[in-house]
Amino acid sequence: MRILTAAIVTETNTFSPQPTDWEQFQACGLCWREGDYIEETAFTAPVLLIKRLGERDGHEVVLGPSAYADPAGPTRRGVYESLREEILRRIETDGPFDAVLLTLHGAMVAEGYEDCEGDLLHKVRERVGATAFVGAMLDPHCHLTAAMVSAADAITIMKEYPHTDGEQRLRELYRICLRVLAGEIRPAAALIDCGLVGVWPTSHEPIRSLVDRISLRETHEPIVSIGFAHGFPWGDVPEAGARVLVLTNEALDVAESTAVAIADEIWSLRDFARIETVSVSEALSEVAVSRQGPVVLADIADNPGGGAPGDSTFILREALNRGLRDIAISLVHDPQSVDQCFDAGLGAPANLRIGGKHGRVSGEPLEVRATIRGLSERHSQQSPAEGPRIPLGRSAWVEIDGVHVILTHSRYQAVSPDVFSGLGLDPAALRAVIVKSTNHFRARFSAIADRILSVDTPGALSLDFANLPYQRRARNVWPRCDSRPEQTVVLRQLQPRRFIL
Ligand SMILES: [Zn+2]
Repeated sequence: MRILTAAIVTETNTFSPQPTDWEQFQACGLCWREGDYIEETAFTAPVLLIKRLGERDGHEVVLGPSAYADPAGPTRRGVYESLREEILRRIETDGPFDAVLLTLHGAMVAEGYEDCEGDLLHKVRERVGATAFVGAMLDPHCHLTAAMVSAADAITIMKEYPHTDGEQRLRELYRICLRVLAGEIRPAAALIDCGLVGVWPTSHEPIRSLVDRISLRETHEPIVSIGFAHGFPWGDVPEAGARVLVLTNEALDVAESTAVAIADEIWSLRDFARIETVSVSEALSEVAVSRQGPVVLADIADNPGGGAPGDSTFILREALNRGLRDIAISLVHDPQSVDQCFDAGLGAPANLRIGGKHGRVSGEPLEVRATIRGLSERHSQQSPAEGPRIPLGRSAWVEIDGVHVILTHSRYQAVSPDVFSGLGLDPAALRAVIVKSTNHFRARFSAIADRILSVDTPGALSLDFANLPYQRRARNVWPRCDSRPEQTVVLRQLQPRRFIL
């Protein structure tokens, strides 16, 4: 068997004014062809995993491009089209292929394309024909569109948020591919819209048990796979929001009844589709009286993982104003200050203008005299899941009167305590650590946290979903609307591609 595998992964915050260009893809180590896969990082791991699995089983695996970009605004049209055309070109020049296995995000928007993954999967299907297997693994923060589902034989979606099960879901996709091509299963799928927008941290009850119940359903024949797409609230596209995809072996009725049952459960849990927050003032007051550290504060509105700039100064300014000591913040995206630190050298003082460089949502830059405590040309952090590390590039640790700031060239959320310890700062010894992240940090910071507080900072990622200024998304969804939309089944499909709805 011959397999082509590739990855195009970025999550588009359509409200962000900062376009996603080549620069953001290059920052994550863009690979075009086999010879570019020099290092296994969190960004190259999915494509390399498919290669290992396929070769272990005696198949030939061809590596297409692997392109990751930190979330920001819509991708430049030419960038998306170049990446797509490279995959299509490889099908033409290196084919024929029996299977095309893609790692995608599912919430990528480009100029002129509201549903990049749906467009890509359809074009791949056109090239490989009806008999080849086309499959994708998606992030749960995807817009799971009818176009994607109708073009693919199977789509698997990570179940965990923090995303700790990417490898499992990719292995699952590979196994389904082998079974379909062996004629063991004939995919029949149902896709349903749950009629709501929210965030679903699977680290918390009752969402934890919901995911466990979904996993249990998957063990019952004829169900093959169940995907719960949480949706990405900051992507204003027509099909944004929570959706459920159930894949069965030939049993369309079971696919539909199972999808309806899970959608009912999700609807009944909608009040938990959010994150409880405290104000900046309340959070820092808690820190001031804390005697057993560290309190972990999540600066959720400035999470680069959702497309925020990652350089807001609101919470840092308030901490300095209050004279708090033994606290640290990470990661502040500020290449300019990092370069100044390298110029000044380790141990030297430096006058810096920290953060606040992306306009109103970031606040004002902080003008400080800092001491440079740590420098690294190749800083990195562990990912929420086991596996290769996330490269962060050139980074610096600076101290301002007992307040520690990790500055970096990479615009990435802080997900592991080694964003601090990798530069020499022990976060466990501090009174508080502030992380620019919504929920991914919990997978690794829970081990050192005395308490975790999500802080309602100003910033780019508003959690007020009822009032997000949607133009493309229908507005009759929860929480704006508390009644459930009537027709929720989006697609029923039996392979070969025979559409029922
Ligand atoms: Zn995600």
